[in-house]
Amino acid sequence: MGLRAYGKYGDAGDKLSQAIRTGRISHAYIIEGDHNVDKLGFAMEFVKALLCPEDPGEGCGLCSTCRRVENGNYEDLYLVQPDRDDKKATLSIKDADIEELQANLKMKPTGGDRNIAIIDGCDGMTPRAQNRFLKTLEEPAPGTVILLLSENMENLLPTIRSRCVHYRLNTPADAGELPMLQLAEDLLDMVWRNEFFYDMKERLDQEITDRKSAYAFLDAMETAMGNALRKGNSTSGDDYLIYGVQWIEKTRANIRRNVGFKYAIRYLILKLEEYKW
Ligand SMILES: [Zn+2]
Repeated sequence: MGLRAYGKYGDAGDKLSQAIRTGRISHAYIIEGDHNVDKLGFAMEFVKALLCPEDPGEGCGLCSTCRRVENGNYEDLYLVQPDRDDKKATLSIKDADIEELQANLKMKPTGGDRNIAIIDGCDGMTPRAQNRFLKTLEEPAPGTVILLLSENMENLLPTIRSRCVHYRLNTPADAGELPMLQLAEDLLDMVWRNEFFYDMKERLDQEITDRKSAYAFLDAMETAMGNALRKGNSTSGDDYLIYGVQWIEKTRANIRRNVGFKYAIRYLILKLEEYKW
């Protein structure tokens, strides 16, 4: 779906896309946004846009590089995520994870010419780990790109902040897209549980009432599929993503060619149901 799909969060996606196209890529970014903003999804799209040889600045979503990023097996991409600290009921990042990341970033990239790191929930880094990480931010190996995902960058040391380019993702003002994502996720669930087509048709008819909502639904389906498969990690998941994205694309084309939007979307659902694992 690419960076463009994140336009609802403001112009950060456009600006980063532009930076990639003009070769003005910083070595460290803070991507800030509220808890309900999909910062990790955004960061993954940014990584694809950065590495994709087919559609630089956007990410084609289909080439082997994009798919390896999507499936979490791109060799030079390091993702650090926080653990729940039960004592404090907060999310925190282990100091050891940061140390390991720093060691990894010192190694030469093997897949291309960039090492990339994403620290999700970097608000949960201890001051000690932040201080230690400064060294990596001060002297990154050439080609390194570090993305710090934060709910509130005030949680980071000023010395860290001053070494990063900062983008804030806005909480979508038009929350209309969120129910659409919910609908898409529900529908995918229903497809995977082999529920009655009639029940799905009922739901679709209630919520997709014009071409505009039909297009919004198709965008949401792409997001929902990406999210679902990011959690899993199987080869068949990979094939399903390609299959699903192709059918979503065909459905858009059909609606553009004036096939009735209700019919076009029902047909998509049937095709998704037809897929044999
Ligand atoms: Zn690609």
